[in-house]
Amino acid sequence: MKDYFKNIALSLWTIILGMKVTITYFFQKPTTVQYPKEKIGVADNYRGELFLNVNECTACLQCNRSCPINCITIEVEGKGKERMIRTFNIDMNTCMLCGLCERVCSTGGLKLSTKYEVAVSKKDDQILHFVEGEPIKANIEALKKK
Ligand code: SF4
Ligand code: SF4
Repeated sequence: MKDYFKNIALSLWTIILGMKVTITYFFQKPTTVQYPKEKIGVADNYRGELFLNVNECTACLQCNRSCPINCITIEVEGKGKERMIRTFNIDMNTCMLCGLCERVCSTGGLKLSTKYEVAVSKKDDQILHFVEGEPIKANIEALKKK
């Protein structure tokens, strides 16, 4: 009989302890974000999808050479001031967002952005094409400005 009441008291105490945690959170401001209606910022050092400002690209190929998994494809033609960028693609299917390409880009034209909504329905859409159509002249002056 004594054990019976002891068990009831223990159960009630357990419920009180559990409810103490619940009640503490009940009066706190909710931390849930109603995504996608609400969005919160990401950390400054967040590594999101790569972005290239092609007008700041000297076509030096350093980013292409530094990528450990070869997901940057650059095709150039011509030399010196006449250097043209025919293709500049980054395959985000394989990019591991390590940031090595950003580090070696001496003009700062290639950067990891804070973009995180990158879902697509086709694999090909994960390949970023920064030069489409006509080739773009490499900006060899961009390096001098830095
Ligand atoms: S972030 Fe890393 S893996 Fe992605 S393209 Fe740059 S060097 Fe390659
Ligand atoms: S300037 Fe930057 S983005 Fe352009 S080829 Fe060189 S390293 Fe790559």
